[in-house]
Amino acid sequence: MLPHATSAEKFLNDRSRSQWHDDTLWFVREKRDQASRTIPEWEALREAASRIKDDVLANLDEYLIQFEEQASANGIEVLWAADAQEHNEHVAGILRKHNVHRLVKSKSILTEECHLNEFLEARGYDVVDTDLGERIVQFLKQPPSHIVMPAIHLKKKEIGDIFHEKIGTRAGEDDPQRLTEAARGHLRQKFLEADAALTGVNFAVAETGGFVVCTNEGNADMGVHLAPVHIACMGIEKIIPRSEHLGVFLRLLARSATGQSITSYTSHYHRPREGCRMYIVVVDNGRSRQLGRPDFRTALKCIRCGACMNTCPVYRRSGGYSYGFTVPGPIGSILSPNLDLKSYRSLPFASTLCGSCSDVCPVKINIHEQLFKWRQVVSRKGGQTFSKRIGLMAAGWLFANPRIFRWSGAIARSMLAVLPRMMVYNGLNPWGKAREVPEVPGETFREWYLKNKKEKHGESQ
Ligand code: SF4
Repeated sequence: MLPHATSAEKFLNDRSRSQWHDDTLWFVREKRDQASRTIPEWEALREAASRIKDDVLANLDEYLIQFEEQASANGIEVLWAADAQEHNEHVAGILRKHNVHRLVKSKSILTEECHLNEFLEARGYDVVDTDLGERIVQFLKQPPSHIVMPAIHLKKKEIGDIFHEKIGTRAGEDDPQRLTEAARGHLRQKFLEADAALTGVNFAVAETGGFVVCTNEGNADMGVHLAPVHIACMGIEKIIPRSEHLGVFLRLLARSATGQSITSYTSHYHRPREGCRMYIVVVDNGRSRQLGRPDFRTALKCIRCGACMNTCPVYRRSGGYSYGFTVPGPIGSILSPNLDLKSYRSLPFASTLCGSCSDVCPVKINIHEQLFKWRQVVSRKGGQTFSKRIGLMAAGWLFANPRIFRWSGAIARSMLAVLPRMMVYNGLNPWGKAREVPEVPGETFREWYLKNKKEKHGESQ
């Protein structure tokens, strides 16, 4: 797997797309800010959500068993999967059992994580993603680049070209309204033909055995209401203890994700319709391991709102594909090393550690602190490049020797003033590609501080 910086460079080489991507996501971040300000008790809600999730993580085994008992009593069949392979085999088994050939899916990050589409398509099943953004990236045989806005990296002209090729819209059509109408007609036929519907799960309620799915397009409901078999796939961390807790999470989720006060469709499922079947596949796939890591377990509180991506200056400029993981951005960078530290060792470094991700997170995950801790784990395990190791050793030595630090600072300042420009701005120094060296100040902070301290001291005497 390529390091994040190498993959990011590809995206950044298209300057206008990278700038547009940055601006678009910042716009969503600002909508989130405005929406959060409409709720005076916003911080109390975040605190409550964080505490509920702390309780869930501390008692996950009990809540999961309670959920299974309640769901089973409601007539839902609950299946457990230790990993992605078992999850996929469960789904394929259900499809075989009911002689299903055509499956419609609504957005489910978990099935992306398990690579379910590829697994089923290799076995001859017709799988159609019905979320508009997901359908667009499915046409391109690409994964989503954002967990809430899967095709956010594409411009409307590109989407028009894809629709022209795949569903026969007029060449050059790029009017979002007309493209959406065309997609609706195309998907409606898929809903009518489907033998089974698969949905994700936003929240599974232990006390009732029911679960909630949030969409803005109503596609989960269309699939589930038409097909005789409903399969819902969820990670073990999706549990919340009681129905009353939904009031906390639903208010936070939509506002954090898109700045809406609530998602257009918040659908509650409790039991199969008469004559129909309902299954829930509950998946671990590395989550128990993460739960057992004291420094990183709270990453499991994530409700997948995407707010940390929209605010992250690195994600906004480097795009979702640069992470090479199903969940990109800051939260993906603390989840992925848990699954495969070697492959994803560069991701904890894909951050400025500015802390903006932690500030916007509705469940108060200390994302930037976990990024920093993963860096320490990577470094301890020798995951740094040789040049970085040498650089950091040199920096450590320099910072541990204040005299030499001061002396080298003075040399650097005087050199910078006279060095020819090409010494900094050349092809060998990527630092200079998008930055200007600030003007060298006349004195250091230390000199300023000592002088002012002295003057102040003199005045007070
Ligand atoms: S870590 Fe927090 S901000 Fe990021 S997606 Fe998860 S809940 Fe949202």
